[in-house]
Amino acid sequence: MKGGRGTRLGEDFGPAALVILVFLPSVLGRAAPWLLGEFRALMLGFGVSFAMGALALNLLMGYAGQISLGHAAFVGVGAYSAGIASTKLGLPFPAGQVAGAVVGGLVALLVGVPALRVRGLYLAVATVAFAAAMQVMVFRIPAISGGQAGLPIPPPSLLGFSLAKPYDYLSLLLGALVGLWLLDRNLTRSKVGRALFAIREAEDLAASFGIDVTRYKLLAFLLAGIFAGLAGSLYGPLLGLAQADAFGFEVSLFYLILVVVGGMGHRGGVLAASVLFAVLPRVLQVLKGWDLLAGSVLLIYTIARNPGGLAGAFIEARRRRKKGRPPKDGHGPLPRLVLPRVRPGEWREPGGEAALLEVSDLHYSYGGVKAVAGMDLEVWQGQIVGVIGPNGAGKTTLLNCVSGLLVPERGKISFRGVEITRVPAHLRAELGIRRTFQVPGVLGNLSVLENFLVAQHLAAGYSTLEALARTSRVRSVEAELKERAMFALAALGLADRAEDPVRSLSGGQQRLVELGCVLVSAPTLILLDEPSAGMSPAASEELAERLVELKRELGRTLLVVEHHIPLVVAVCDKVFVMAEGRLLAGGAPREVLKNPAVVDAYLGGTLARAGG
Ligand code: ATP
Repeated sequence: MKGGRGTRLGEDFGPAALVILVFLPSVLGRAAPWLLGEFRALMLGFGVSFAMGALALNLLMGYAGQISLGHAAFVGVGAYSAGIASTKLGLPFPAGQVAGAVVGGLVALLVGVPALRVRGLYLAVATVAFAAAMQVMVFRIPAISGGQAGLPIPPPSLLGFSLAKPYDYLSLLLGALVGLWLLDRNLTRSKVGRALFAIREAEDLAASFGIDVTRYKLLAFLLAGIFAGLAGSLYGPLLGLAQADAFGFEVSLFYLILVVVGGMGHRGGVLAASVLFAVLPRVLQVLKGWDLLAGSVLLIYTIARNPGGLAGAFIEARRRRKKGRPPKDGHGPLPRLVLPRVRPGEWREPGGEAALLEVSDLHYSYGGVKAVAGMDLEVWQGQIVGVIGPNGAGKTTLLNCVSGLLVPERGKISFRGVEITRVPAHLRAELGIRRTFQVPGVLGNLSVLENFLVAQHLAAGYSTLEALARTSRVRSVEAELKERAMFALAALGLADRAEDPVRSLSGGQQRLVELGCVLVSAPTLILLDEPSAGMSPAASEELAERLVELKRELGRTLLVVEHHIPLVVAVCDKVFVMAEGRLLAGGAPREVLKNPAVVDAYLGGTLARAGG
């Protein structure tokens, strides 16, 4: 199944893009003053420039989930940098704009560094502080920015042609908006956009898919800064001036209104809000002076009553119009997990060679709580190894240390004989270690298909630049990933739910999506955290069969944390029993379960609860 035209994730503009990119903006730009008059054409230009800035903020907040309340400052950096490049350094028009975009990107990258440590409110405060510093200091230094009066920016010219007339410049602005839209669109249809969405939804889960969270967060700031810088660099020549007041807190609030009211993460919604608040009021000369007030009221309403914004309401209405398909609940038997055979493993008895996974003397504490206190464990290739123990024994903490979500205080973890104790989670995913979570690790707001595409992040070997340009290599890699995802979805019986958001699936189906996402990445070692939680006995039996199938037919190695003893006995080659953070016993399941210490510490409690 190739990603042909008409499909949501695979379509491309092709030659139509060129027509839109080259002709439509210039036709509209030339027609606007004739239709609207010169003044309104100028106002349209301001609106278009705001729309470009809003797309930049949408990338940062809507896609990557990084809150910025000082966005106008990034636009200002672009405006001043381009102004200085053209007036003080004498660079020609497009070079000045490139300088504005580059400086905007670099400054945003610097502001993004705190985002690696802080989130939410703290990040918002950091961006407000940055914007305030720019507004009261940098944008008012006479030597740099012309002080209070601002920096005059002469009318631009391109290849000897003057762009002083609003309609000429408007054509250029509209072209830039279309260009930015296409870049943004390409981004969201690539692994880069999906990585940003995943980070917005759940950073730990993103890392477990092999996404380098640090790198992609910084990339989001860099790209948003470049987009905002470009918007600012084109705004200056329109106004004939770069002035601090044009990039103050009120303007940042205005950008926030465009993104939140339009619908965070929805390019179309943000553009619609830009037309409603930034373009039409200016062009029609309505809401004069009241647009910010009206927008603020709508912002509060959106946050309180309609968090999805205009786009969210539109999507919801469209979904309701489609025939109702209530999610089936409960957990029926699992379909067969027939998946591509990749790197078939071989059974190896413990011998001279190193174990696939070795954990020795592992320690981890949450403050004063010693969750893991000197745990040892070995997993050999081709085995299914179970970890059991009473609640609070430290099993999940152990799994988190092995998958890289937690860094142990002491001890050693080796994979294929190489120490990985401090290797970050995304690199462990690259080594072939994948995991599931106690609460299904799925990206609820993304579609089922998108989850399967995010899970294959590491298989998409193209660069960010290639993604932005959507080269033929990107298109063919994406088509391959989609094909593999659809194959897995069909095997799991979820092909007809491919476009539905995962949160609309039942709990059992979400578990299936989670497991499918792990398997589609062809891992060597699979870590399962209570895979049978909430399943009916019939579904648990099915699960047991599928796990054995994974080992025998696909050669996978599994480390399973589980409370359901019959499942453990049915599938595990070896069982480790944990109590109070350390190893109580280990060996063949039936032997271990007869161990008096195990019966006493764990099974006694379980049997007692079950009425003996
Ligand atoms: P269960 O079978 O109930 O899932 P578990 O064996 O997986 O339990 P862990 O979840 O690893 O055990 O917890 C081990 C200990 O660490 C428990 O005492 C738990 O209360 C504590 N703990 C776990 N997570 C945290 C946390 N984020 N902050 C503080 N303490 C925690």
